[in-house]
Amino acid sequence: MTHPRTTEPLLELRGVSAAYGGVRALQDVDIVLGEGEFVVLLGPNGAGKTTTLRTVSGLLQPTSGSIRLQGRTITRVPGWRRTGLGLGHVPEGRQIFPDHTVEENLRLGAFAHRRARERTQRTLAELLELFPVLGERRNQPAGTLSGGEAQMLAVARALMSEPRLLMLDEPSLGLAPIKTAELFGYVQRLHSERGLAVLLVEQEALTALRLADRGYVLERGRVVLAGSAQQLRDDPRVQAAYLGAAPTT
Ligand code: ATP
Repeated sequence: MTHPRTTEPLLELRGVSAAYGGVRALQDVDIVLGEGEFVVLLGPNGAGKTTTLRTVSGLLQPTSGSIRLQGRTITRVPGWRRTGLGLGHVPEGRQIFPDHTVEENLRLGAFAHRRARERTQRTLAELLELFPVLGERRNQPAGTLSGGEAQMLAVARALMSEPRLLMLDEPSLGLAPIKTAELFGYVQRLHSERGLAVLLVEQEALTALRLADRGYVLERGRVVLAGSAQQLRDDPRVQAAYLGAAPTT
C-alpha cells in the first residue's frame, strides 16, 4: 500500500465498522487521506462507499473504530459540528432545496459559520464567480436548474463552509458526459490551485483514477485493495471489474 504525502493525516479511519439496524455495511475499514490529497473510493453497488462518507460526516455512528480529522478524534462529534471542523459533504442525489433560490441554498451551506456574515458574503461572492452559471441564476428557485447546474450548486453549497476536505458521492450520476467533465474540471482546479483534499465516490472508475492520487476498493463493506491511482489502473482485478478489461486467467 502506498502512503499519503504528509505524515499527519487529514482524515484517518481505523477499524471502522457500521451497520443499518442488523445489516452490516462496513467492517474494519482503514482509510487514510493526507492534507491536500485526492482519494477515490471504488467498488460495486452495496460495497459501502456511501456508508463510508456518511460515517465520516457523522450521519451514521460507527459501531466500532475511530475517525480522526487533523489528529482530533471526531468519532462522537455530531455531524453538524463536523462541518465547522472542515468537512464538506456532497451527498448522493444532491439534496438541494428546490423551492429555495440558488443563493438561499448556498447560504444554508454556511450554517457552520453563520455568525461571520462578512466571511459568508465573501465566500458567496467567490463561489458565484467560480461557478458563473450559479451567479446568473442566483435568484432562481433551485428546482428550475438543470441536472448539471444542480450538481454544481450542491458542490458550491458544500464549499460555503470552506472545507479542507470535500467528499463527493457519485457526482456524475445522471449527468451527461460533458457536464461530468465540466464538474470534475472545477473539482480538479479546487484541488490543484487551492490544495483542497477530495474523497470521491465514483462509478466511472477510469475518470476517477485519472483525477485521483490514490484509491481504495471496497467490497462487501471491506477494503480489499488500496494503492496509488496508477497501481489501481494497472491492477488486473480493477481492470476486470471496473475498467472493462477481459478478466485474466
Ligand atoms: P451504491 O454504489 O449502490 O450506492 P455503496 O457502495 O455506496 O453502493 P452503501 O449504500 O454504502 O453502498 O451500502 C452498503 C450496504 O448497506 C448495502 O448492503 C446496502 O444495502 C446497505 N444499506 C445502505 N443504506 C441502507 C439503509 N438506509 N438501510 C438499510 N441498509 C442500508
